[in-house]
Amino acid sequence: MKLTDGAETLKNVGEARLVLLHKLGIKTIGDLLEFFPRDYLDRSVISPIGELAQGQMATILAKRAGDAQFRQLAGKNITRLYFSDGTGQIAISWFNQPYIQQALKYGEDYYISGKVAWSPAGLTLENPQWDRVEGESLSAGRIVPVYKLTVGITQKILRGLIRQALDETAGQIEDFLPPNILHAHGLCGRSFAVENIHFPNGGEDFYTARKRLVFEELFLLQTALITAKGHLKQKIAPADIFANMDITPILSALPYKLTDDQVKVLDEIMGDITGGFALNRLLQGDVGSGKTAVAMVLCYLAAKNGAQAAVMAPTETLATQHFQAFTEILGGLGVNCGLLSGSQKPKEKREIKAKLAAGEINVIIGTHALLQDNVEFARLGLVITDEQHRFGVRQRAALNSKGTIPHVLVMTATPIPRSLAMVLYGDMDISAIRQMPPGRQPIDTYSVTKAYHNRIFDFIRKQVADGRQAYIICPLIQKDEGDEDASAAQNKQEITQVIKFAELLKDGVFADINVGILHGRMKADEKNAVMTAFGLGEIDVLVSTTVVEVGINVPNATIMMIENAERFGLSQLHQLRGRVGRGKHKSYCILVTDAKNQVTKKRMDAMTKTGDGFVLSEMDLELRGPGEFFGTMQHGLPRLMLANLYKDMEVLAAARDAVINMGEVSHLPLKNKVKSLLAKVQQIAL
Ligand code: ADP
Ligand code: MG
Repeated sequence: MKLTDGAETLKNVGEARLVLLHKLGIKTIGDLLEFFPRDYLDRSVISPIGELAQGQMATILAKRAGDAQFRQLAGKNITRLYFSDGTGQIAISWFNQPYIQQALKYGEDYYISGKVAWSPAGLTLENPQWDRVEGESLSAGRIVPVYKLTVGITQKILRGLIRQALDETAGQIEDFLPPNILHAHGLCGRSFAVENIHFPNGGEDFYTARKRLVFEELFLLQTALITAKGHLKQKIAPADIFANMDITPILSALPYKLTDDQVKVLDEIMGDITGGFALNRLLQGDVGSGKTAVAMVLCYLAAKNGAQAAVMAPTETLATQHFQAFTEILGGLGVNCGLLSGSQKPKEKREIKAKLAAGEINVIIGTHALLQDNVEFARLGLVITDEQHRFGVRQRAALNSKGTIPHVLVMTATPIPRSLAMVLYGDMDISAIRQMPPGRQPIDTYSVTKAYHNRIFDFIRKQVADGRQAYIICPLIQKDEGDEDASAAQNKQEITQVIKFAELLKDGVFADINVGILHGRMKADEKNAVMTAFGLGEIDVLVSTTVVEVGINVPNATIMMIENAERFGLSQLHQLRGRVGRGKHKSYCILVTDAKNQVTKKRMDAMTKTGDGFVLSEMDLELRGPGEFFGTMQHGLPRLMLANLYKDMEVLAAARDAVINMGEVSHLPLKNKVKSLLAKVQQIAL
């Protein structure tokens, strides 16, 4: 049996089972071995029922006793079974699983594992995992793996298949990490790791295995990302080093004094430039934190040192805005700015391109049009991308290849946790502006229940009477992966609800003001018409699904009301809140939720207490776990199988160091492995 063989090569895999395995993403024997457990049960220790203590994770070994009981409670069918092991008896309940009464038979021995909890019937096990005791020992007397399942595949089946695959392919698992890296980081070999991630011989072996595989996962991803982007810290030619670092003229031309954070970031950037290395830095900072000023200072420096700068924005509107702002400040300092955009006439474009090639334009501002092949620079020395997440890796690599080795600054308004930034931008240095320019009013944020609807609507009416505008966001449930039909139907239903909600308001409390509706099923021009009307103030209250999240800027809007706020993660709530507080008027964010669970409570508390996007993004990662967190970041990062960016920070830092120290990928097995990841990584929007 080979790792590349299909899963059907295994004993006990027929056609029907093969389909189920495919559903789990398992096609080959190799896939099966990399189908890592999502959890473990420690069945190396069996607890006597008589000695269970509340709160402990425990496995009991027991037989059924007494009669089963059935009850209805709050719409749930509860089946309660009794078990005893000679030291005591325990009642365990299962919700909506009536078949459990047949599945667990009298006279058989069962391992039952779960958290010991208090119940009116005495101590019990919550949602326990169970296995019948059998001759073989994959499910007993040891640390037992727990896998993600699909209907028709049980834990026992998967454990058996994986055991079989491990035995049949012994000695075939290749280690693609270079030996010196294994050695330097104290990592075990791959074959030991794969065996022990599934069937660890004990806690220590498990941790050794997991560390190795987490390291490998993060190391590979970062190596692939860096390979795709095609650059690491690179020395620049002495002739390209900026000699003139005097920024006094531009600082006095700016209409404000830079904030401490802006100064700190400029310091970091100028340190890179004067150090003889190409600047390669990510600048994070919330919307409105003043990233543009930093970009202007840099462009000024480039121009004064005879180099050209290219500034790329994600939309024409933003590019035009930048062009105006840059011209206003830099124009007076003898720096020539130009705009290149898709909507310009061919003749105009030609002229600008000619000037650019001749070196007459110092700073060119544009959209992706700047990436086209027929744009030539006389001496490109600096590339700044704003709101970079919409540019692909490949596009950036294309632009970087236009200069010799230009300085690169990437600016993003999406605060992401440090660990995630390190993975996504493993090759870059990272700076952050956390402080807002003075005079900005914080957005007052409240969390209330639906009982407050009328009061909120009154408040909105008052603001509208004062000439302000409001957003009301009704979320759609996040799409469930792999279940597209169901989610499409659900989506439709929920959009219907949004429309209903909007119409209720329109005909009721807001009968005398203008209510607009925006949702994902509208055509692009319909959406644009509504957004434009809202921007012009023709619509007072915009009821919308989350489509407003992307780049809408209406400074006159002062209220962001979010229905069912529990459905959003913190990062998304923060993004939504950022739609208000953009003008001179005091703004408010009102989170409406009837959910009472702990996670929701923590999220709402965090939102009301802080406006710092970084704090919120860290908390978001912690509360959701990385899997879900990634889903909402839309980076398209491949799903991490094992690594947890919150808990594995240390391994992440070690992997990053290893990647950076390695430089060029020369170890052949690693090169091949990275190659297969490249296509995936190139899709990532960075
Ligand atoms: P972003 O980080 O979202 O790109 P901008 O650079 O557009 O933010 O800045 C937002 C606003 O704050 C702009 O109107 C800008 O003129 C202003 N601003 C930037 N820096 C300062 C400062 N140090 N003091 C006062 N206002 C500032
Ligand atoms: Mg900006």
